[in-house]
Amino acid sequence: MTFPKAGNLGFPRMGAKRELKFALESFWSGKSSEAELRQVARALRTAHWTMQHEAGIATPPSNDFSFYDHVLDLAVMLGAVPKRFGHPGGEVSLSTYFAMARGAANATAMEMTKWLDTNYHYVVPEFEPGMRYELLSAKVVEEYQEAKALGVETRPVLLGPVSFVLLGKTTDVSVVRGDVLRAILPAYTELLKRLHDAGAEWVQVDEPCLVLDLSDEAKTLYREAYAVLREGASPKVMLATYFGDLAENMDLALSLGAAGLHIDLIRAPQQLAALAAKQTGELCVSLGLIDGRNVWRTNLRHALAAVETAVKAFGSGRVQVAGSCSLLHAPVDLDFETKMDAEIRSWMAFAKQKLGEIAVLARGVEDRAGIEVELAANDAVLATRRSSSRIHREEVTQRLEAVESSMLERYSPHAVRAKLQDEELHLPPLPTTTIGSFPQTPEVRKNRAAFRAGKLDEKSYEQFLEEEIARCIRFQETAGLDLLVHGEFERNDMVEYFGEQLGGFLFSENGWVQSYGSRCVKPPIIFGDVYRPKPMTVRWSTYAQSLTSRPVKGMLTGPVTILQWSFVRDDQPRAETCRQIALAIRDEVRDLEAVGVRAIQIDEPAIREGLPLRRADWPLYLAWSVDAFKLASSGVSDRTQIHTHMCYSEFNDIMDAIVRMDADVISIECSRSRMELLEAFERVQYPNGIGPGVYDIHSPRVPAEVEMEELLHRALKVLTPRQLWINPDCGLKTRGWAEVGLALTGMVETAKRMRLSIAV
Ligand code: GLN
Ligand code: ZN
Repeated sequence: MTFPKAGNLGFPRMGAKRELKFALESFWSGKSSEAELRQVARALRTAHWTMQHEAGIATPPSNDFSFYDHVLDLAVMLGAVPKRFGHPGGEVSLSTYFAMARGAANATAMEMTKWLDTNYHYVVPEFEPGMRYELLSAKVVEEYQEAKALGVETRPVLLGPVSFVLLGKTTDVSVVRGDVLRAILPAYTELLKRLHDAGAEWVQVDEPCLVLDLSDEAKTLYREAYAVLREGASPKVMLATYFGDLAENMDLALSLGAAGLHIDLIRAPQQLAALAAKQTGELCVSLGLIDGRNVWRTNLRHALAAVETAVKAFGSGRVQVAGSCSLLHAPVDLDFETKMDAEIRSWMAFAKQKLGEIAVLARGVEDRAGIEVELAANDAVLATRRSSSRIHREEVTQRLEAVESSMLERYSPHAVRAKLQDEELHLPPLPTTTIGSFPQTPEVRKNRAAFRAGKLDEKSYEQFLEEEIARCIRFQETAGLDLLVHGEFERNDMVEYFGEQLGGFLFSENGWVQSYGSRCVKPPIIFGDVYRPKPMTVRWSTYAQSLTSRPVKGMLTGPVTILQWSFVRDDQPRAETCRQIALAIRDEVRDLEAVGVRAIQIDEPAIREGLPLRRADWPLYLAWSVDAFKLASSGVSDRTQIHTHMCYSEFNDIMDAIVRMDADVISIECSRSRMELLEAFERVQYPNGIGPGVYDIHSPRVPAEVEMEELLHRALKVLTPRQLWINPDCGLKTRGWAEVGLALTGMVETAKRMRLSIAV
């Protein structure tokens, strides 16, 4: 068979209406059977293959479907089932599979972490001493055959063995990655052979780790693994790389002997020229030209130029057009967005529409003239987008041009500010506070849903929120907290809440993307210049402050986090969009200050996850992201206390950036790492305030006071008493009032006791 001109690396699994999510949750709650769940899954696979086939993708992917996660699928296929799940051997049952993903009564779930730099989370494989690896599942072959029976020849997708091993974790020092790799290779080889025997011509082997900074050891693993795989019977391998530039690893990738190579030309367009300059022999090249990570239409002429370069270099018979990565990270179908603004919608493409773009460009590989109509239509759409008054706002451009470096700095250094803030806030030593949200009870959610559905009028809804705020303030006063919050009852999500009030943002009805398992998120879409039509939080902060003589903290989401958790416009650099958001937040900060709010928290939980995949790209990112935070936070007087919050515990390699942010107080997750991460703060002699979380809010467990006290004593070995704040490690929105009551009361009692024992 000739090499197909249109390719695709993967399609969203959930279904346009999140059918899989609902089927999974119904199965988990015991409302439906395994057979019913499998039925829904099969129907989705059929629909997705058919859709892709009809769109012109000759051999769409198979095995891109998963009940939970494709990395977990491979672990289960290779027999990497941790002992605690009591797997007796043989094919892993669906209940064991879900136990691994979600935990069971007697076994904690496997850890999840972000898939490279996406917001998709994979289940981290665990490699235990003595684990026996063998091929336990026929899923890949079965799904290949399932499609074949429907008349669709597919290209099965497998995560490559080296990325699998590198993305997993060893559970004991005695386990060596190289040994794990060698141990899984026989099963992997067997799998490839079975696909070959079943008639698959191609298999897609994903090795995203090839775009990372690789150690010499990792490079050796690559050479070893593929030397073994080359020996056995196998379909032709399309080695798929994505999310970044192969750069210095390109020679390594080419040396692995794959019949094809996929490169991501959205993230790293320079790869095409680099590859064209290599000796590639008979290599088939898949060009990732349609952005699998965003929602915008492709500039087809621009992409076609890349196609033509590739055709010149490799010949038309060796070129395929594809999405930049799996379309898993894009929403499914724009056709369901019936309420969206028609002009803006015309600029977008979701997964289904991206298939159409792939097909058009694929036709252009041999017949440029034949796609002229589509190119002209695309030109017209892009021209309206470029010139649309919906996107460009003169006042935003002017404000950005007027930003000066002095606007990124507070007036005085922290030591000076701290004294003035003490005068304003009158807080005791070791002040207590919380991270912002209080329980989002069913009652809160019900009222918000009713308001949104138009069943509850605005006045009644606001009255309800005021009552919740009042209760929350009374609660905090009774518990004895020092710096209060209003509780965030008016917010559903910390990014969505601001996106809905900012200009330049848009929300889809069905633009869901999988986050993990059955959980999907619907990121806001930033389509144009960002501005703030009016204050966003002042009303609630003012109300909360009016109820108490204790200070109430204003609560905002930072520009980097808003950017990171949205689909971002692709017609200007991300840094530019981030600065626009920063200016909008800066206005809000100043408005809060103007009405008398004396402490303002700007959450930035996403700064760290925005770090580029390659170390060499970190400094640039950290420069603009920290600048954005500073632009947002520095417009206030020395007397106003700026807080920030970050949810994670790995600070070591971004400590300089944290210092440069210069927040007066930073609250961080610390309880689970037993304050160990504070060493990073000690090492740089961090001078500002720190609130290392003293208890884990991710569990309903109420911490004992002695535990919190012990953690605080550990913190005091590293921090001065003047620096230390006392707070939980994140917002309380997922918790219930009863446990929050006990935990916070205990926390305040602990603080009081600690105050007696220290000299400030
Ligand atoms: N202020 C937010 C809250 O308390 C912070 C959440 C977060 O950092 N993820 O819910
Ligand atoms: Zn947090």
